[in-house]
Amino acid sequence: MSYSTIVVGSGISGLSAAIVLAKHGRRPLVLEAHNIPGGCMQMFQRRGPDGRVVRFDTGVHYVGSLYPGQIMWRLLNYMGAEVPTMPLDRECFDRISFPGSEFCVPVGWDNVAAALKRECPDEPSAIEAYVAKMQQVEQSLNWHVLDAEVEGAYDRELYETSLQALLDQLSVSPRLRSLICAQSSLYAVSAANVPLAIHAAVVGSAIEGPHYVVGGGDAITNPLVARLRELGGELRTRAPVRRVLVDGDATRGVELATGEVIEAEEVIVATHPRTALGMIPEDSYRSVLRKRMADAEECVGAFVVYGTLDASADLTGVSARNHYLLRDADPDCFYDPQLDDPADAIVNLPPPVNGGPQLFSAMGSARMEWFGRWQESKTLKRDAGYTALKNRLTGNIMRMIEQRIPQLSGKLHVVDASTPLTLRDYVGYPQGGIYGLQPGMNSQGRNGIRRRTRYRGLYLGGAGTGTPGILGACVTGFAVAGAILGTDELIREVRGATD
Ligand SMILES: Cc1cc2nc3c(=O)[nH]c(=O)nc-3n(C[C@H](O)[C@H](O)[C@H](O)COP(=O)(O)OP(=O)(O)OC[C@H]3O[C@@H](n4cnc5c(N)ncnc54)[C@H](O)[C@@H]3O)c2cc1C
Repeated sequence: MSYSTIVVGSGISGLSAAIVLAKHGRRPLVLEAHNIPGGCMQMFQRRGPDGRVVRFDTGVHYVGSLYPGQIMWRLLNYMGAEVPTMPLDRECFDRISFPGSEFCVPVGWDNVAAALKRECPDEPSAIEAYVAKMQQVEQSLNWHVLDAEVEGAYDRELYETSLQALLDQLSVSPRLRSLICAQSSLYAVSAANVPLAIHAAVVGSAIEGPHYVVGGGDAITNPLVARLRELGGELRTRAPVRRVLVDGDATRGVELATGEVIEAEEVIVATHPRTALGMIPEDSYRSVLRKRMADAEECVGAFVVYGTLDASADLTGVSARNHYLLRDADPDCFYDPQLDDPADAIVNLPPPVNGGPQLFSAMGSARMEWFGRWQESKTLKRDAGYTALKNRLTGNIMRMIEQRIPQLSGKLHVVDASTPLTLRDYVGYPQGGIYGLQPGMNSQGRNGIRRRTRYRGLYLGGAGTGTPGILGACVTGFAVAGAILGTDELIREVRGATD
């Protein structure tokens, strides 16, 4: 078999890049190390308390920009993937719960502005300036507005100004600061370190089009894989790539861990950037760039509790929204390195599928160091001490849910929990960081990872080369395909095909 392009990694980035190239007559082969495709979109199953098998999501709790005409909807449509979705509550898709107070984030920037003004009536000008800035930033992200004209018009300020700097400049009160920063777990960087471009892209897409994917990650992965095959592309699982092969200045293909060599003129590595660095020739990037990539900080990890709800649970005012249970009103509390417990949690209640039970997940931040004792151990083979630690952390999160969402008290049944080690072992993120590398000031914009390398035909994709999340990762897949096919042409084509 001969392939035009090898894509390493079958997350949404790798699959999107492969589908776009296949649509243009290329013959891509996607190689995935794991035994199932999807990366962070993969699901896993456990027996629920009634003995029935239930399937849980890893990394698809909700996805933004999914109303018809919005960017995520367009990218999926362009690829020809039919993904069932359900909008979250328009009045309150993210309920932010602080001790003693709460705030509902509604859909749409205008509604957010109105809600913030109700909470902070003395700060209308700062609120208007903040919202106007966010909308302006979003309008300058060419893939988000599918505007080929702005391609290349790279605005350094958006990547070199932090959210905190903007809030300082607007002299916002501590309360307003907390409300604005409360959703920062969507990118896992503190306000002082997140570029405006990342905050606007990630929080903005959630604010404008928050949807559940009905059926979870499988409901994205399966149609994408089917579409790839329909277009003549291929996917091989259990195919870990050891290294990318080059010949002179050109890419030659890859060598698998088994020693098998597969040739292709183009290779796209769409894994965690640190994994990619270990696979590509050392001189693929200038040494300064390589060092910056090697030194880039990892995101904090996640501790996630998974379970089911009693059929008798009253979900009025609770379902169709995420519940951000925050320890206090400090906007950076989610990332406090002193924490030795998941002090905050995001509770997600995906819509039940095919008459199955109502599921929940509750995700708190967690540091790999907490699990240092088990670094050398293998998944599903860890000792009783690991289980005891998981149980303790689970207990803390469950107590927080029972206090802050009293309707769910006594109705929750824990099925399992995952740690940063789980993410390391199943998705290949070396430090189990929730979004891989931190999308902070020193790894974005001018400091960002380049898609092109010094080798003809060798490219990097994946969320770590752009914006975290399903949308951000999907955009990197399109962007890397654009680097091969012509970015402006591809943007125009996507716009034309989905208008
Ligand atoms: C707990 C959690 C919750 C999340 N919740 C949300 C959410 O609600 N909404 C949202 O939008 N985003 C969420 N995300 C983020 C989102 O899921 C990811 O940012 C996105 O899926 C990353 O896609 P990707 O294609 O960049 O990479 P990945 O999905 O990481 O895929 C990379 C793939 O490369 C493979 N690979 C690695 N090394 C090799 C090798 N040597 N050879 C072959 N294959 C290899 C891996 O096995 C993996 O399958 C969440 C993530 C996590 C972890």
